[in-house]
Amino acid sequence: MLGDDDFTSWIAPLSAVEEKPQSIKVTSDNSIVTDWVRDHLLRDIETVAKSQFGAEFRILLADDSPSPQEVSPQVDSLPGHPLNNQFTFSNFVVGPSNQFAAAAAEAVSERPGQVYNPLYLYGGSGLGKTHLLHAIAQALHSSRPQLRVQYFTTEQFVNELINCIRKKRMDAFRQTFRNVDILLLDDIQFIAGKERTQEEFFHTFNTLQSTGRQVVFTSDARPADIPGLEERLRSRFLQGLLADIQPPDLETRCAILREKARASGWDLLEDVVLFISRRVQKNVRELEGCLNRTLAYAQLTNRPITVDVVRTALSELLPEERTTTAADIIRFVAHHYGIRVADLKGRSNRRSIALPRQVSMYLIRKILNLSFPEIGRIFSKHHSTAIYAVDTIQKTRQSNPDFDATLTSFKENFT
Ligand code: ADP
Ligand code: MG
Repeated sequence: MLGDDDFTSWIAPLSAVEEKPQSIKVTSDNSIVTDWVRDHLLRDIETVAKSQFGAEFRILLADDSPSPQEVSPQVDSLPGHPLNNQFTFSNFVVGPSNQFAAAAAEAVSERPGQVYNPLYLYGGSGLGKTHLLHAIAQALHSSRPQLRVQYFTTEQFVNELINCIRKKRMDAFRQTFRNVDILLLDDIQFIAGKERTQEEFFHTFNTLQSTGRQVVFTSDARPADIPGLEERLRSRFLQGLLADIQPPDLETRCAILREKARASGWDLLEDVVLFISRRVQKNVRELEGCLNRTLAYAQLTNRPITVDVVRTALSELLPEERTTTAADIIRFVAHHYGIRVADLKGRSNRRSIALPRQVSMYLIRKILNLSFPEIGRIFSKHHSTAIYAVDTIQKTRQSNPDFDATLTSFKENFT
């Protein structure tokens, strides 16, 4: 049996286009509804119809969804937002930090309205949210061109709304936003504190969602962390799927750099890739900025791209690059293990102190390349103690993968 909601979502939008004694042809102007009815309900509807009108009775679905021009006449709809054709799924580098969000976005582009609705992607600035949103739009444009896909920035949504209120064109506004098959709204956090916008948006969203149409949001924060967001909107956002994007790890940053360089026709040296990736950790947009600046510099000065050239090219962008000292490393290790610098440099050989001390010696050796006597002196120890420490840590890394990963992350902090 169908519930009221199912009826409203799937049966009510259908209308008959052709009635014959032995059949009826139905359609809807929303192809998601038509698809869903075909996949899930057609047989049941037909069974009921046969019991009423005879065993020969057929229900046909008209496949003639109106063409996009017919359904959204330019005069009455608002302009969408241009899409960046570089922002596709195939250009998106997937790593542990964004895997979940990317998979959810792809699933939505394959089965809009059927899997996660709404899909809410969130994460810090420059981590690929807009990229994924454009990718959904472009995948749908090519796989299902009959669908009306609208991408809007929230800023644009708010401006259109204000404009339409002022010009008394709310019908055009509603038509644009309520008649789409898929609504992609970027940076929804900008709706915060704008009451009238939230009100209008709530109704738009309800209309879309209750008729099975896909909505995807991006935001720089999870719904609970957007101040000034109405409770009813907050809870609507939580009805579908929340997927976060974290800053990419070193490996993913390297892969992104290689991909972006390749797209511009460059093949970078591995140490150049590492050099740039290590210095920009939190924001892919900045990472890309560094790459573009490097490429431009190399072209203008007609020099090959080496680490030295990159260092010069990026010297203004990366002023924070300063030389690490042994004291920095010792402070870092002490902090990590929750002990005092004085302990690290002291005499105690308790394991809780000795291990961090060995780690410090190891890192100083690997990162600063100091000699063993120099390292020994820092800790008031004999140089053989430093040799032993470096050797021990090396061996432990080889036998203990967790420890190895910890040390890798320690080193990333300094290089
Ligand atoms: P956000 O909307 O999260 O602020 P964008 O989607 O605008 O970030 O991404 C910023 C830039 O970083 C874009 O040029 C985008 O192509 C790029 N980018 C981010 N993540 C990736 C990724 N995983 N693979 C490739 N490019 C990425
Ligand atoms: Mg964005």
